[in-house]
Order: sequence, then C-alpha cells, then structure tokens
Amino acid sequence: MGYPHKPHSKETVVLSKHFGDPEARSYKGWTKRGGYEAWQQAQTMAPTAITDTVKESGLRGRGGAGFPTGLKWSFMPKEKKKPHYLCVNADESEPGTFKDREIMRWTPHALLEGTAIAMRAIQAEVAYIYIRGEFTEPYAIMERALAEANAAGAFGGLKIHLHRGAGAYICGEETALMNSIEGKRGNPRIKPPFPAAFGVFGLPTTINNVETLAAVPHILKNGAAWYKAMTLSNPKSTGTKLFSVCGHVQRPGNYEVTMGFPLKDLLYELCGGVRPGRTLKACIPGGSSVPILNREETESCLLDYEGAVEQGTMLGSGGVIVFDDTADMVYQIMRLARFYAHESCAQCTQCREGTAWTTKILERILAGQGKTADLDLLLDLSENMTGKTICVLSDSCAAPVVSGIKRFKNEFEDYIAGRRRPVMVA
Ligand code: SF4
Repeated sequence: MGYPHKPHSKETVVLSKHFGDPEARSYKGWTKRGGYEAWQQAQTMAPTAITDTVKESGLRGRGGAGFPTGLKWSFMPKEKKKPHYLCVNADESEPGTFKDREIMRWTPHALLEGTAIAMRAIQAEVAYIYIRGEFTEPYAIMERALAEANAAGAFGGLKIHLHRGAGAYICGEETALMNSIEGKRGNPRIKPPFPAAFGVFGLPTTINNVETLAAVPHILKNGAAWYKAMTLSNPKSTGTKLFSVCGHVQRPGNYEVTMGFPLKDLLYELCGGVRPGRTLKACIPGGSSVPILNREETESCLLDYEGAVEQGTMLGSGGVIVFDDTADMVYQIMRLARFYAHESCAQCTQCREGTAWTTKILERILAGQGKTADLDLLLDLSENMTGKTICVLSDSCAAPVVSGIKRFKNEFEDYIAGRRRPVMVA
C-alpha cells in the first residue's frame, strides 16, 4: 500500500521524507539514503557528548508529555553499577494518533538507528521496542529490518528486542509498559521511584517514544543548531512534528510541520478543510486525552507545546481529531469517557469508579433522562478524578468532559431540557 499523499509545499519533511518509498525499508536502501551515518558518528562520540547535543537541540518527547529528551537521558546514573536499559514506546494507543505506525511502516531503520544512538548515550546494552499488539504490519516490517541490521552487524554488541503488546491502552503508560515487558499485568506503578532509578526489571531505564528517537539521527547528522532553528514561534518548541489528522476533514493523514505551525493552516490548507457545505465546530489537537477546543480557539492555536497551552489544551501526541457542525459533542464526549472506562486498569478508586460513573451520567443525558444538576455533578466528579491517581488515565477522561461542558454547554442543556431527540446508546 502506498503512502496516501505527496508532501504539501508547507510541510517540512524530515522524518517523513521517505514515507511511500518501499526501498527505504531495507537495510541496503536505508544506507544508500544516508542511513546509519549518524550511528557511525555516535560511535566516535562520548555518551555525554551525544546527550549534550540532543539537549542543545531542544528535542522534546513526542509521545505526549513533551519532556526534554536530553535532560531525560541525563537522569540515568553516571556511574554504571548495574545494567542500563532503553525501552521504546511504540504502543501508540492514544485515539487519533497514527504517526509512529507510519515511521515503523516506512522507515523502520530510522527508529533502529535512533534506538542504537540513545543506547550509547545512556550506556544501555539492551533495548526493548514495545510495539502495539494491533500493529501487525509494522511489527513484521520492524522484525525484517532488525534481522537485516543484525545480519549486517550494524549494532555490534547491542541487543535490540521487539516486544508485542496485547492491545491494552494503559500499556502505553511508561511503567505499565515496563511491567508488561516483565510478563506482569500492565498496571502503572506509583512514582517515585522513576524509571531512571527503578525501571524495567528494577534497573535504571530510559523510555522514549518512536518519533522522538527517529529524530535523533537527524540531530546528530545536521547538528543541534540546525534542529533548534526549526521553530515558527516559541524557542522552547523546536524541530518538526508529525500530526495525525482524522475526522471531518477532506484529506486526513499524517503531516509533518515545523513547530509553531498554525493549526488553522494545517486543517484548511494541508487537509483541505471540512467537507463542502460544512463548518468547523471543534478540534482535539493532541490525542483524545487533551481538552477540546471550539472553532475560535482552533483557528488561533499554534502547534507547539506553549501555543496549545495558551488555548487551554495540550499538544499531547499530535493526534488531531476534527469535528464539523454535524457532530453531536455530548455523544462524542460520552464515547471518549466510555473508552477510558473500558481501559482503566482499576487500581485507583477515582479512576475505576469515576470513569464508569462519568460514562453512565453522559449516557443518561443522551437518553433524555438527564437532570440540570448532572452538569455540576460531572464537573465535581472530574475534579476528583484529576491529579489524584497513579497515572493520568483518570485525568484523560476528565479533560474532554470539563472542556466539553465549558465550550458546548448548550448541547448538554438541550438534551436535558428535551430540545434534542434522545439517543439510545448501546
Ligand atoms: Fe489504573 Fe486508572 Fe489508576 Fe491509571 S489512573 S493506575 S489506569 S486506575
């Protein structure tokens, strides 16, 4: 299957340069395109020099949290008394996000090269790439690429293992992922201790996202200054980022733009806008767990970490979900809450009970049986679900509910007042 679109002239194509080029998937094809040169270079550098270069570039984690990558690497113990590990989060289970999948499908060696460089920087001999269970094709491609690279002796003594998940959303949470690698139930762990002190198998571990690691070879090859210069707004957000756009746009797909690119241009120019005759109503810019924006906020939002916060949301994983004026926001929010209720690992009361209760109240409102007090109840419940649990799944359920009530309260009130036809949800 070919890649669905040719890059738009406003895209800054770095990570996605070889998307749609099947030859780039092979070891031979990748090396022909300059692949593994950065890894050669890394082997001549001291681990601290690699970390410093990545720190200087301003690269921040592309999995959702946006934590500075070089800084994270520097948390690993300086004196190596125990084995160090690298975990690669290729779980990508956040609804609306499908860019890591494309990196693995088209440029598996970019991820392997970034993995090897990170392993040298943190002095790890073993890495686990944890791939989402549903990613059958990317897994097969990664398996082939790893076998080819190993056969060519690309990584010397470094051991890179592929590990498949079994489909649980929560295994994208870093410590749940580590438990899952250990063969345990994928429950998030209480932090501290953080992974750099107590990670997989209880040993010092760094965990990075696929897109983050795929950017590392480019930084080493072109220099920190080159990467740092790629910003359209805030110098704290540098480089390019892949955005997965889905929902009511004419050309959904992955688009790579420089940090600070206007969300409005992404939606109206690159993605062709909403369907003919329709208008934009709302957008979730960072995967399903971040606050929803209304039309005005969407059109003012700059795609970088600070720009998203300025509009009251987060950049998250870069999964952009678009709603036009036909979308029923109460229904959409209920679907999100139901997803989180289903995926809760059930360790924390606020999450286990809160996500289920939130879903029930939203279903009741949709069925025409809601009360005016339900809106305050939902907000109260969301407050109790935020910042009080082991991981942020509970917060992720509350974010679309709170932002949805704030921006689209009239739609909730219409159901409660009987002005909208009830929706029976199965
Ligand atoms: Fe599990 Fe939810 Fe608690 Fe996270 S917040 S640890 S998913 S119960």
